[in-house]
Amino acid sequence: MISFIGAGPGDPELLTIKGKKLIDSADVIIYAGSLVNPDVLSGHKEGAKIYNSALMDLDEVIEVMEKAEKDGKKCVRVHTGDPAIYGAHREQMDRLDALGIKYEVIPGVSSFLGTAAVLNKEYTLPGKSQTVILTRMEGRTPMPPGEKLEDLARHQASMVIFLSVGFLDEMTEQLKAGGYPETTPVAVVYKATWPDQKIVIGTIADIAAKVKAAGITKTALTVVGDFLGDEYDLSKLYDKHFTTEFRQAKE
Ligand code: SAH
Repeated sequence: MISFIGAGPGDPELLTIKGKKLIDSADVIIYAGSLVNPDVLSGHKEGAKIYNSALMDLDEVIEVMEKAEKDGKKCVRVHTGDPAIYGAHREQMDRLDALGIKYEVIPGVSSFLGTAAVLNKEYTLPGKSQTVILTRMEGRTPMPPGEKLEDLARHQASMVIFLSVGFLDEMTEQLKAGGYPETTPVAVVYKATWPDQKIVIGTIADIAAKVKAAGITKTALTVVGDFLGDEYDLSKLYDKHFTTEFRQAKE
């Protein structure tokens, strides 16, 4: 059984207990070395074989998994954040299916949640936005029809843009073309929850220049929307004039 594990955004304590136990008992560890904090692996068994998948292609990753299975060794595959978000673990699971190798997925704290946490913000503010769009800019991976940033921007939802901090000029142009006012707040968070985390706050008009001045070129998320501001409606859930399943309204 191969275990795919979400390593969380960076802080090694933001790893699930289940993920930690599996990493600490693994004989073979394949981790996404470009982003996973090596401290997440610090409890590994002595003699565990550790592979950095940044240096491997899909065939090589599968070969390591297949060999571990044959030798009766426990193999874990450690992805950053949660594997279900730009983790490319689907293609690995499909290859394992073809080989008849069983696997499981242990979820992790995605960087978009780590980012909201370090900003002390909620993506779903009543009266502002009740929808979160997780997306990226078109790069080597093309965007499917209808998913260009400009199309998504039309919703004026809370937006989280992965993998794209190097293209902030184009990004802000597309956000404007999609209808966001230039004054819309934007935050760029570099390495959320890591010791060298950086936060840059601005608007669609000035964020690109601020981020350049801060020297951030990768490993950052861009979040956009009025949820970053201070105007919103209070929730019905905790409204004292509102009855819920668990609580009577007060006069
Ligand atoms: N599966 C991961 C995302 C992998 S894609 C997750 O759930 O978070 C890699 C991109 O994620 C990076 O280019 C960056 O945009 C973002 N990212 C990953 N870790 C981050 C962190 N700690 N802080 C900010 N952005 C991060």
